[in-house]
Amino acid sequence: MIEIENVRKSFGTLEVLKGIDLTVQNGEVLTVIGGSGSGKSTLLTCINGLEPIDSGRILVDGTEVHAKSTDLNKLRRKIGIVFQQWNAFPHLSVIENVMLGPRKVLGQSKEEAREMAVKQLTHVGLADKLDVYPGRLSGGQQQRMAIARALAMSPDYMLFDEVTSALDPQLVGEVLDTLRLLAAEGMTMICVTHEMKFAREVSDRVAFFHQGVMAEIAPPAELFGSPAHPELQKFLAATH
Ligand code: ATP
Ligand code: MG
Repeated sequence: MIEIENVRKSFGTLEVLKGIDLTVQNGEVLTVIGGSGSGKSTLLTCINGLEPIDSGRILVDGTEVHAKSTDLNKLRRKIGIVFQQWNAFPHLSVIENVMLGPRKVLGQSKEEAREMAVKQLTHVGLADKLDVYPGRLSGGQQQRMAIARALAMSPDYMLFDEVTSALDPQLVGEVLDTLRLLAAEGMTMICVTHEMKFAREVSDRVAFFHQGVMAEIAPPAELFGSPAHPELQKFLAATH
C-alpha cells in the first residue's frame, strides 16, 4: 500500500504539491490526469524518493520513504518507474539491458538474470528481440523494453509517467496493451497519462491534479461521467 499524507513540495518559491493526501491499495490501478505543470511527475518522483519533500509523509508498505533511517535503495527495488523515454545502453543488446539491474542491483547470477529477462521480455511481447540492439527497436518496442527492465526487478509497485506521449499514434496501442495486461494481473500501478480512453477503461480510480492540488478523485465512470470540479470540466472539454 502507498500512503501519501499531506505532502507538500516546493521548488524554490514555487509550491508544486500543496498538501496531497492519497492512498493506493495493493492491486489498485490509479491513473493521474491533469494539465502541464500540475505536479503529476513530481508526485511520482517523490513516491520513489528521487525528490525530497518539504512536509507530510509518504509510506510504502509502512516504510516512510523520506525518513533518514530508510534504506532508499532497498525501497526503490519495490517500486518500478518508467518514464516517457528511457535511454537504453546502445552498445548492449535488449536482453543485456534488461539483465543489468538484476545483475548489478540484485546480485543475481548471469543465468538467473537471463531467465528473468527472457520471462519479462516475453511478457511484454519482445521474445523475438532479445539479441537486437535497442537502436533497432521502434519507439513502442523501446518503451516495452523499458517496462520489461523495470519488471525484471520484481517490483511490487509500478509508476508510469506518460509512457506513451513520445510515441507516434500507431505505436501507442501496443504499449497501453502491455499496461492493461499488468493491470489485469493485479499489479499495483500509478499511471500518469494523457490517454483518457485508457484511464477510463483500466483505472480503479482516476485522480485529477490542478495546480498542485488533487482536485478530484473518483472511479472513472464517476469522474468522467459527472465531473464536479470546474477545472476538471474544462480539462475534459479541452481533451475530447
Ligand atoms: P507535464 O504534464 O507537463 O508533465 P506535470 O504535471 O508532470 O506536467 P511537474 O513536472 O510535476 O508537472 O512540474 C510541476 C511544476 O514544478 C512545474 O511548474 C515545473 O516547472 C516545476 N518543476 C518540476 N521539476 C522541477 C525541478 N527539478 N526544478 C524546478 N522546478 C521544477
Ligand atoms: Mg510530467
